Amino acid sequence: MHIVRLLRLLSGERLIGLGQEPCYGEGMPEKRDYYEVLGIGKAATDSDIKKAFRSLARKFHPDKNPDDPEAEMNFKELQEAYTILSNPEERGKYDMFGHDRPGGSPFGPRGFQGVNINFDDLFGGGFESIFSQFFGDSASSSSRGSDLLVRHSIPFQAVMDGIDDELEIDVLRDCTGCGGSGSNSDDGARPCPSCDGRGRIDEISMIGPFRQRVRKECPSCRGSGRLVTDPCGDCRGEGRAYQAIRVKFSVHPGVGPGTRLRMRGQGEAASSNRGHTGDLYIELEVGTHPWFERDGSDLLMALPLSYADLALGTSIEIPHIDADDLRIKVPSGSKPGETITISGRGLPRPRANSRRGSVTVVLKLEVPRKTSRTMRKRLNEMRDDMEDELDVLEDRIKKEAMSRRRG
Ligand SMILES: [Zn+2]
Ligand SMILES: [Zn+2]
Repeated sequence: MHIVRLLRLLSGERLIGLGQEPCYGEGMPEKRDYYEVLGIGKAATDSDIKKAFRSLARKFHPDKNPDDPEAEMNFKELQEAYTILSNPEERGKYDMFGHDRPGGSPFGPRGFQGVNINFDDLFGGGFESIFSQFFGDSASSSSRGSDLLVRHSIPFQAVMDGIDDELEIDVLRDCTGCGGSGSNSDDGARPCPSCDGRGRIDEISMIGPFRQRVRKECPSCRGSGRLVTDPCGDCRGEGRAYQAIRVKFSVHPGVGPGTRLRMRGQGEAASSNRGHTGDLYIELEVGTHPWFERDGSDLLMALPLSYADLALGTSIEIPHIDADDLRIKVPSGSKPGETITISGRGLPRPRANSRRGSVTVVLKLEVPRKTSRTMRKRLNEMRDDMEDELDVLEDRIKKEAMSRRRG
């Protein structure tokens, strides 16, 4: 086991862009009303909003609509509508101003960027915390620890079988020496005078005729609300220190490369010990197979055969990913480039009880580089014999061209 490379997700990076932000300029469709997007009325309750979001999100989730740009757009539009309407303060502003609120988009100049939600979370309800992070107005979200991203490689075989895996990461956690307080003694800290121990300060700014309150992390205490007077030797008063932790997780069969597993509360500890620990995302990379290429749940391989194997036909058995040998029957008279498809022997499909994918075998002709004298003699005899079996050369050329043009 080795320590893996960790990336700290910046708040913008935590959100995975789901395609380009649509432009609502000339000729583009008007940005839709958030209530219309969720299919609810203006009087909808919080639970109506959540219910509508959950059911539509399941419908448009990328896992259920792979390579479908329209579903992706719908999914993102839905997320944006939910982000605003599920936040009472933002919903109030939207009700008053619609999309043209003073101060521009609440998501900044680039607009809403989309979030990566696990399909599973749409059942359990683990998705709310992702959305509450957009607006740093609640105490829990502003003092939340950073989310972390780690890339982890699993063997190809794990896509077939699934795997219980673990990794070790070095991550900022509450210091064990001081229990996260940053101080050696119980009275070794005093409330920060700049923010009165709140950890945040409010700045008032004017946007046109509107007064807007912007809440910021207090720079004096860096959001902790406390100033340490008797710093702990282990963490130098930080309250957090790097610790090697072991994370265990399960990978389901059929998983695709780039899948992100979200490990709630396994990220970085919050800088103030009142906040929640961030999440850890494990991005899966899948190792290569010695001969298979992967296309979703289908597998593709090339089978190099001799001329005799192609002409006479043959049956081949090779070890396979499902522990049963893979039997490939090559019919007599096969040509290089022809394919044999064996259905139901590919990879499992994620989150579906449907059949496994298929294995497609492309036949190749392998010609020996060197030939012995006796082999050359036999090949020459064979050539003479075959000339008798085949049409005259000119007819052969014409026939080949005709079948090629027929496609
Ligand atoms: Zn400490
Ligand atoms: Zn402060």
